Amino acid sequence: MDQSKTLTSPDVVIVGAGVAGIYMLHKLRNMGLKIVVLEKSDELGGTWNWNRYPGARCDIPSLEYSYQFDEELQQDWNWSEKYSAQPEILEYLNHVADRFDLRKDINFEEEVLEAKFNEESSLWNIKTNKGNYESKFCIFATGCLSVPNKPDIEGLDKFEGQLLSTSYWPREEVDLSDKNVAIIGTGSSSIQTIPEIAKEVQNLYVFQRTPNYSIPSNNGPMDKEVEADIKSRYTEFRKENWSNGFGIAGISDEALIAESDIDEVNNQLEENWKNNGLGFFGGYADVPVDANANEVAASFVRNKIKEIVKDPETADKLCPKYHIGGKRLCVDTGYFETFNQENVHLIDLTASPIKRIGECSIEADQEYEIDTLILATGFDAMTGALTSLDIVGRNGIVLRDQWEKGAKSYLGLGVSNFPNLFTITGPGSPSVLSNMMPSIEQHVNWIADCIGWMIDNNKNVIESSIAAEEEWMELVNEIAGMTIFKSTESWYNGSNIADKANAFLPFIGVPVYTEKLEEITSNNYQGFIFDLSNK
Ligand code: NAP
Repeated sequence: MDQSKTLTSPDVVIVGAGVAGIYMLHKLRNMGLKIVVLEKSDELGGTWNWNRYPGARCDIPSLEYSYQFDEELQQDWNWSEKYSAQPEILEYLNHVADRFDLRKDINFEEEVLEAKFNEESSLWNIKTNKGNYESKFCIFATGCLSVPNKPDIEGLDKFEGQLLSTSYWPREEVDLSDKNVAIIGTGSSSIQTIPEIAKEVQNLYVFQRTPNYSIPSNNGPMDKEVEADIKSRYTEFRKENWSNGFGIAGISDEALIAESDIDEVNNQLEENWKNNGLGFFGGYADVPVDANANEVAASFVRNKIKEIVKDPETADKLCPKYHIGGKRLCVDTGYFETFNQENVHLIDLTASPIKRIGECSIEADQEYEIDTLILATGFDAMTGALTSLDIVGRNGIVLRDQWEKGAKSYLGLGVSNFPNLFTITGPGSPSVLSNMMPSIEQHVNWIADCIGWMIDNNKNVIESSIAAEEEWMELVNEIAGMTIFKSTESWYNGSNIADKANAFLPFIGVPVYTEKLEEITSNNYQGFIFDLSNK
């Protein structure tokens, strides 16, 4: 029997075998540490394992939504499209797991129920559906968007038709041909799903509460010349991720709409609309901070929507009125065009909200008979995976309670009162406002270096100080306060979840974050406390 499967006292328990968890395993195992990864699913991949809805695709170009820790890996792997679809990303992650022999240390179908810090032994006790572990370090690699938001709509639990969720799509093929289908939500997941399923369904009823800005991906087969060029200078190319505010390569943030000629701006936005996807306004540094500049970019997209969608009333309903980028920008393949199809119907919930779901229907402005209901209603973002289980730190403090009035973390890596616990891309880090891949690698490398430093310096326990954490989250909010992000209702500030504290969670600005992280680290991990007395 595989030795690692029987281990109950590893050095490190990693929770989650997604992009972050598998690289963390690889990194720490290479340091000679004993690791167990606990994964709820029977497959690795995290987000890319769960979110299998039709059209699921990454909206960061494949050549930079990939690991960079191994030169041979990045040279050997070939992506087939500019933006990879979910199956190919999952295949890639499985390839990485096989290539580095990672599976032997991953326990599948093992869900963590409780993690409790023992102050006497300074060890984490981790209880799962299958057993117990005791480890010095506990690392949560549980993702920022992994706990679905189930809407509280009357009758939902009594719906007798086919109930699907974008965030938990079945592995087997779902045949929607000739079905009357309703989809609730119009965020990134829905915007990718809608054009795909609209091809086959009888009728598609799109229940929209808030319209979204979306930019065409103009996806296509990988351009071999572009690929060869980037592969010939991959290290240099990757550095570009660190110089752009949102961690996207190839986009300079230097120009300002406010200081540019409007015709030039419109030409540039046209260029970005055709080629840049998520980097649509990335070239202009003032779009996220100056309401007037933002309105220029926003109205450009609204005009595009009105050009694409033939029915003016539908087009108007599809035009967002808030600041562009305030809610996560979407990238699509023919989303707005879909509303020109006769079988696609937009229901504006601001005019008449959903009243109830019947056994085979959904009622808003009128009652719609449906066979299938798809929930595309988002996630309890950034904190859900950490507050949905019992994580118990010093003095019996439960993380969920500590975060009741808003999540606070130091650098998105550590939380006060929770010694030797690390989070990968936790609240207070660029995470969801960056290219997740390099941000994950940055955190994994940092955690590994920190653990290595502790070993070399005979340190047993690390935790962030309350003061450092407070100060850090003040900075997170101060920066957000200078932007349009803070004033827009979104899952970035928890406003999509009833009863969730309204607190802005991601750190805006990859270069500033990186500078601060390096400064703190080179200052002997300033703000972290080592070997605090257990009293
Ligand atoms: P989302 O952006 O949070 O969208 C959820 C949608 O459901 C919103 O339109 C929301 O409306 C609506 N909604 C929620 N509760 C509702 C209710 N009770 N009644 C009616 N409507 C309701 O979720 P998502 O689309 O799953 O995307 C989440 C994030 O995942 C994205 O922002 C992105 O970061 C990531 N993602 C990335 C990709 C990619 O790389 N291509 C693809 C998918 C997702 P309101 O806006 O009014 O709340």
